[in-house]
Amino acid sequence: MNKKQSIDLEFDKNHIWHPYTSMTNPSPVYPVTHANKHYIYLEDGTELIDGMASWWSALHGYNNPHLNDALINQMHKMSHVMFGGITHQSAVELCKRLVNITPNSLDKVFLADSGSVSVEVAIKMALQFWLSQGIHGKNKLMAPAKGYHGDTFAAMSVCDPVNSMHSLYQGFLPQHIFVNAPKSRFHGEFSLSEVEHLEQKFRRHHHEIAAFILEPIVQNAGGMNFYHPEYLKHVRRLCDQYHILLIVDEIATGFGRTGKLFACEHANIEPDIMCIGKALTGGYMTLSATLTTNKVAFGISEGEAGVLMHGPTFMGNPLACAVANQSIDLLLANDWQFEVERIERALNKGLSTLKQIDGVADVRVLGAIGVVEMIDPVDVADIQKSMIKQGVWLRPFGKLIYVMPPYITPTEDIARICHAIGNAINS
Ligand SMILES: *Cc1c(COP(=O)(O)O)cnc(C)c1O
Repeated sequence: MNKKQSIDLEFDKNHIWHPYTSMTNPSPVYPVTHANKHYIYLEDGTELIDGMASWWSALHGYNNPHLNDALINQMHKMSHVMFGGITHQSAVELCKRLVNITPNSLDKVFLADSGSVSVEVAIKMALQFWLSQGIHGKNKLMAPAKGYHGDTFAAMSVCDPVNSMHSLYQGFLPQHIFVNAPKSRFHGEFSLSEVEHLEQKFRRHHHEIAAFILEPIVQNAGGMNFYHPEYLKHVRRLCDQYHILLIVDEIATGFGRTGKLFACEHANIEPDIMCIGKALTGGYMTLSATLTTNKVAFGISEGEAGVLMHGPTFMGNPLACAVANQSIDLLLANDWQFEVERIERALNKGLSTLKQIDGVADVRVLGAIGVVEMIDPVDVADIQKSMIKQGVWLRPFGKLIYVMPPYITPTEDIARICHAIGNAINS
């Protein structure tokens, strides 16, 4: 084989779908040959500072020797073995860690293959729980507008109806009850009118609602909103009052990204069901988990079916579990909180001056997440070209240019990312 075989971009363009793209008018893709630490390398040798952590997942950056070793060691034992009727050390160790680090009342773990699937499982848990209690008719979900929970059908049905284009799948997609998106900002005042609205919705619909699902504190794909912890507290209270389960989707926010290990800790609440994914394996492999309480787990198990009706082929994949164990150990050993606060300060410093630029609507930072919201939608291809010229990898969407770098990114490289955003907007 050629030592320097180039990536066949023509084939890619003609045959391969990328996320949310057209086959007749595909947006440009950049050929990447390798990645190391917080850098991504293009085929032509260009080194890019990674501002995306591969969509929230690569906490420790790329090609980490500890994570690599965990995978290689596991591979020499077994890469995969079915989880039906079999168990193994990596899965047991992972679930021990997950039970330990998530809120106290979460005690039972279901391992699934992607974030969307963990949401599907969470929904099944909620539906099966109420059936097991002999309560019928609780077969809808309630969710705030502007949420994002994945692209499979049940997950999509609780995403923002406009953003995720529910209209395309009308007649097929289940209909749920939406409440207004949380409005009060994380660092701002909490508006009691939000509570009135929630109370009204809960009062009116509780008998048909199995669970309330939301992203705690950060609504990501629906607009990168950082909302007030009081909102989450009131949702928890109303769920208790009206016998509705609370599902928190921590797939993006989990593992320290917002400054707490899990974002629901900002509000000091515990959910009945929690979904995690993305950063679970440090960005190495796809793996997710749905955790729940004894009450829900025992309820399901004593109910009509007696079992939770889900079991993916690659459930508990040993490679994914092994790398997840190592990623969690590394995170906890590395004083992640210090690193996230350091990045938060650097983002605040680097992005705050962009507020004055024409066309910028808002700048906000929470934990290791920085957002520049424009007044109008940005031209993704244009901005990306400008960023790459400046040695930075970002992928904006809609009106949002946002940053969530690996926690290992040095402060001066955070500054370079912010500077590059300023230049891209100005030009
Ligand atoms: C990414 C994401 C999902 C979906 O996870 P996939 O692994 O892409 O299926 C669900 N919920 C939230 C909050 C996410 O950020």
